[in-house]
Amino acid sequence: MVKPFEKKVWLSSPTMHGDEQKWVNDAFAANWITTAGENINEVERMVAEYAGVKYAVALSCGTAALHLAVKLAGERLYGQAKPDQGALQGNKVFASDTTFDATVNPIAYEDGEAVFIDTEPDTWNMCPKALEKAFEIYPDVRLVVVAHLYGVPGKIDELRSVCDKYGALMVEDAAESFGATYKGKQTGGFGDYAAISFNGNKIITGSSGGMFLTDSLEDADKIRKWSTQSRENAPWYQHEEIGYNYRMSNIIAGIVRGQMPYLDTHIAQKKAIYERYKEGFKGLPVIMNPFDAVNSEPNFWLSCMLIDREAMCRQVRSENQALYVPEKGKTCPTEILETLMKYNAEGRPIWKPMHMQPIYRMNGFVTANGNGRGQSNAYIAHGAATDVGADIFERGLCLPSDNKMTPEQQDIIIQIIRECFE
Ligand SMILES: *Cc1c(COP(=O)(O)O)cnc(C)c1O
Repeated sequence: MVKPFEKKVWLSSPTMHGDEQKWVNDAFAANWITTAGENINEVERMVAEYAGVKYAVALSCGTAALHLAVKLAGERLYGQAKPDQGALQGNKVFASDTTFDATVNPIAYEDGEAVFIDTEPDTWNMCPKALEKAFEIYPDVRLVVVAHLYGVPGKIDELRSVCDKYGALMVEDAAESFGATYKGKQTGGFGDYAAISFNGNKIITGSSGGMFLTDSLEDADKIRKWSTQSRENAPWYQHEEIGYNYRMSNIIAGIVRGQMPYLDTHIAQKKAIYERYKEGFKGLPVIMNPFDAVNSEPNFWLSCMLIDREAMCRQVRSENQALYVPEKGKTCPTEILETLMKYNAEGRPIWKPMHMQPIYRMNGFVTANGNGRGQSNAYIAHGAATDVGADIFERGLCLPSDNKMTPEQQDIIIQIIRECFE
């Protein structure tokens, strides 16, 4: 038996290079310790250039960027919100189901009601067929929030054409996929409104931070205004709209500025990790998280695996615990994650789908065959074959994907996982 790692092998931790400290020190030297300054200007320029959009607005986090994106879409669709009302005003919004809850919470911030769209098995993102079904069931919906899970671009063309067919706007959550491309174009450039994140575990980080991306100067100006308390052009604090304190700090911007030149390096490291797992798992009854190799180049933020149904031992999960029954020749995410933990390596379950979250238990959910929840005809129980998100959650897991993990450490992790199947 191998010994546990002396230093924990993380799922995905910050990787600093030194330039970050220099830009932070510059901010100190200039005394720009505020939400304005050279680092912010420069990092907005760098990100817009990299992402291939005209404007990037630096904000306190990706969630703030998504909130303002959803609000902007809501106002475009339904008119300016009253001070005590959200911009979505009780309207339904279609949203990715297998994602982090920050994708969908902004819909609730703006008084909308999320209806979750099931996941497709090819990229683990929003299923275009299920989206089409959802529009048949709820033809009045005009907004769709789409995330790219784990850095893998979704079926953007198909999703976009369904949105266009029904005259809906798209908010693109590229928080996990910064640097990933679809048909040669950066994710974050496809939505009518888009957001990226610099949270501590993302492909590059500022410790926190996020950005709103757009080609529209008017939209960029609006987001800039909202994010700095909606101050009007007047000698005093004058307000015609509700405002937010969502601007990025010049210190955080210094860290992001230092990270930007290393984004491609991080992607190359993450890709090597993905490929080493893929090679190392040959012969096991598993697949890696899939992507469209013809049309897309993921940023490989997290490497994940999915265990074949036949190789799953019994596993049950309550709302906060998991148990499994060990079985020869079989395993399950719980066994693998617990084993990794014993060796001081961090994995994680697949993001639990939003339609399975207690907070959203009353919200609608639509699968590719048009079933789901919140409709008169049917309720598909969790774990049913047509509920793709529940199935991936059941059989999948995120592997240690830290770009400071050495090949030797990764080989040990591969060996540990192989032994779970014995
Ligand atoms: C991290 C993340 C966010 C939120 O970004 P923050 O910067 O942490 O607010 C949003 N959506 C997805 C899919 C994420 O993974």
